Amino acid sequence: ASDGGSKKTSRIRVAVRLRPYMVKEDEKAEGPCVRGIDSQNLEIINWRNATETVKYHFDVFHGEQTTQKEVFLSSVKPILPHILKGENASVFAYGPTGAGKTHTMLGSAEQPGVIPRAVREVFNLVNAKDEDEGWDYKIGMSYLEIYNEKVLDLLLPNSQDLPIREDKDKNILIPGLTHTTITSFADFDKHFVPATLNRTTASTKLNQRSSRSHAILLIKVVRTQKTLPFRQQTGKLYLVDLAGSEDNRRTGNQGIRLKESGAINLSLFTLSKVVDSLNSGTSIRVPYRDSKLTRLLQDSLGGSAHSVMITNIAPEYKFYFDTFSALNFAAKSKLI
Ligand code: ADP
Ligand code: MG
Repeated sequence: ASDGGSKKTSRIRVAVRLRPYMVKEDEKAEGPCVRGIDSQNLEIINWRNATETVKYHFDVFHGEQTTQKEVFLSSVKPILPHILKGENASVFAYGPTGAGKTHTMLGSAEQPGVIPRAVREVFNLVNAKDEDEGWDYKIGMSYLEIYNEKVLDLLLPNSQDLPIREDKDKNILIPGLTHTTITSFADFDKHFVPATLNRTTASTKLNQRSSRSHAILLIKVVRTQKTLPFRQQTGKLYLVDLAGSEDNRRTGNQGIRLKESGAINLSLFTLSKVVDSLNSGTSIRVPYRDSKLTRLLQDSLGGSAHSVMITNIAPEYKFYFDTFSALNFAAKSKLI
């Protein structure tokens, strides 16, 4: 399973996480339609013939018993040392609304997810660095949202759509985006929590905006040599809670909802094409420029970047078609 292409480009690790079965008391319980087999395989009931199942294989399968800590240790922690060396990384949660993306990325106070664990770990790694290695480290953050193909700064109230640019070294930049230096996890939290609350408030007002936008946290580590030639390297870590992957057109959306659905479908569809062309190792053009999401992530997907996609799925029958299409997305992404 090595890449067959001639260009050195890293593939994207694909993990699937199945959340526990949850039925409300007034719902009739049909049992789950998805079941884990082992740490890489799962099966889903075949719609055409319920006595059969369809099996899928992934880099990692996290069953419903998997803890937040286990997801972090297996899928995220190993890539973090790279961002201290000036390399880029991205972790994104994909899947239908209600399948556990925000639980995986953000979690709760009792069950913190990937974001708080990763930020703590980045500070631990930097603080553990030996003075004698001769580098100074600075950590900063930005927090943004892509909504309707608009790039919005979440660290500012009432942000305007921000343009995405590329510098001569092919680094992707958003010149107007707030970038705040952070000196500890508590400092991070001080900026992050209010921004997250803003987003949630907006979401109830705007009818579940949070499930229709991509929330993107950027943690940037800049290191500078303390002596000549004062070399400087920047590593970026993107932590992304993607918009819901459900097919919004099915639910009869109109007007602005339909426009949003088009934007979501475009960016997730383009993401699937990008992941696909990176992981197939062929020389198909990687269509980064076709959506804001992939354009923004361009320097942190493929190339020398370290990426993992955690596909979240739910076991109840009402999610059947969304689960099926999320699994097909993830399975295609994993094809080598
Ligand atoms: P999404 O962000 O994909 O719409 P959420 O993260 O909001 O989904 O999850 C939907 C519900 O399921 C929430 O109440 C969440 O707490 C719960 N949930 C999701 N994943 C898990 C899990 N692994 N263990 C326990 N509860 C979970
Ligand atoms: Mg969510």
